[in-house]
Amino acid sequence: MVEKRQKIVIIGGGVSGLATTYYMEKLAQELDLSIHCTVIESTPVLGGKISTDHSGGFITEGGPESFVTRKRQAWELCQELGLGNRLVGTTERGKNYILHNGRPQIVPMGPVDAIRTPLLSFRGKLRVLREPFVAPRTDLSDETLGDFLRRRVGGEIVENVVAPAMGSVYLSDVNQVSTQVVFGQFADMEREHGSLVKGMFALMKQRKAERQLAEQNGQSVKKEKLPAFMTLRDGLIELIETLADKIEGDILLDSKVVDIAYTPVRLEPYQLSLIDGQVISTDLVILAIPTFAMADLLEDFDTAVARNLRAVHYNPVATISVAYNKGDIPEPFDGFGVVVPESESSKLLAIEAVSNKFGHRSPTDQAVLRAFIGGYRHEDLIDLPDDELSALVQEELASIFNIQAAPTFIRIFRWQPANPQYGVGHLAMVTEVERKLQKQLPGLYLTGSGMRGMGIPDCVRQARKTANQIIEALQQAHAAA
Ligand SMILES: Cc1cc2nc3c(=O)[nH]c(=O)nc-3n(C[C@H](O)[C@H](O)[C@H](O)COP(=O)(O)OP(=O)(O)OC[C@H]3O[C@@H](n4cnc5c(N)ncnc54)[C@H](O)[C@@H]3O)c2cc1C
Repeated sequence: MVEKRQKIVIIGGGVSGLATTYYMEKLAQELDLSIHCTVIESTPVLGGKISTDHSGGFITEGGPESFVTRKRQAWELCQELGLGNRLVGTTERGKNYILHNGRPQIVPMGPVDAIRTPLLSFRGKLRVLREPFVAPRTDLSDETLGDFLRRRVGGEIVENVVAPAMGSVYLSDVNQVSTQVVFGQFADMEREHGSLVKGMFALMKQRKAERQLAEQNGQSVKKEKLPAFMTLRDGLIELIETLADKIEGDILLDSKVVDIAYTPVRLEPYQLSLIDGQVISTDLVILAIPTFAMADLLEDFDTAVARNLRAVHYNPVATISVAYNKGDIPEPFDGFGVVVPESESSKLLAIEAVSNKFGHRSPTDQAVLRAFIGGYRHEDLIDLPDDELSALVQEELASIFNIQAAPTFIRIFRWQPANPQYGVGHLAMVTEVERKLQKQLPGLYLTGSGMRGMGIPDCVRQARKTANQIIEALQQAHAAA
């Protein structure tokens, strides 16, 4: 008997949907399993939040502009796709700044800077140093990152350093966001070692022991040292285009999935209705879309599941990239970026010094600053018309960097909604949702930034896991047939 080719539909053409498809096809080929994938994307373009503009001699990122290499998954995917020689790293360990009384103030990265910084009072500094002596919490339940850090290192560093960074990087309120999702390793350190400092020493010791063991076994211990952030030469869209090229299945654009029906007795139990009236039957479905979009499609099956997924709040954000002639900036800025605490009167969340971080993206005589506006602090500002938004940003940049000249280039992107804000208990919620769905809708999987981490490496990690899970299930079914 010839075995049926398994049809798999992936809803969502962002990095999560495309990477899941890529890994599934690759694994299926290695294991000689017959699958056919179809990616369905509602907009006319692939990439989701990854969107690169090439105009005016600039490479402008609308969403993410790089990924961290501390989590290796995105870097590994780029290597696997043959993009190794396209990767560009930040040249040096860049300085980061925080706006303090309207002026950029360097974020302390070492002990000497930390002692000198005006961001913390003497008391605030002493409180941080007391961390190893603070008793660990015995309750293992999740808590907000603000609560966690206030217990461990005191309130001042939370308000003056962590909250602005979280507000700009994750668009998240430190007093709402789950420690388990965004800083799970720190919660583990407290649980296992009683303190963050002790946890870090234990980690260093463990790494040293691993290196020594590897050396004794004659293994190479050299792990490639990578720049902290990397991107692709022509923008992150290269990752999306390369994934799309490698995918052997079909990709449907401009095709929103508006309904899912499940009929277990049918050979292909899932019927997906597209916005144009087309219906696609399939064996398996992967939802690689934001949680509120998952909720829309799952509402008819389980209202509690839909309610929980819809409750994940997504903050809006606009990124406004502004270029100036370098000579027009009277006080050249040497950092990678400035984050803005809520206590400052500025309406910006953060400013990225794009041309300092990745110089190849702009003509050599241009300095590019990318402003973030919106987030949970100023949700309404992103609705301003382009001319008002750009005037507001120019005014803010003029005040912070003392720039009087007019910009040479401006590019605005709006993300509404943008990134999920994982509330306390988020991981337990998504685990419970998956458990329920596995029973009610076998063969339907959830992945993507709304689930267990929003950075590109997190999305790739989840994509790889989802692909493994699906291919393993198919392999077992194949063996049992
Ligand atoms: C401004 C900004 C800056 C960021 N900066 C960084 C950074 O520097 N580094 C980093 O690592 N991460 C960054 N991120 C986060 C990262 O970009 C995202 O978490 C990641 O790209 C999300 O990928 P995804 O595929 O899970 O979701 P998405 O990119 O949201 O893709 C989901 C796709 O599903 C489609 N879709 C939705 N509903 C349907 C439907 N019913 N039918 C068909 N298709 C549907 C959507 O159109 C979309 O294309 C940033 C995000 C933003 C917004």
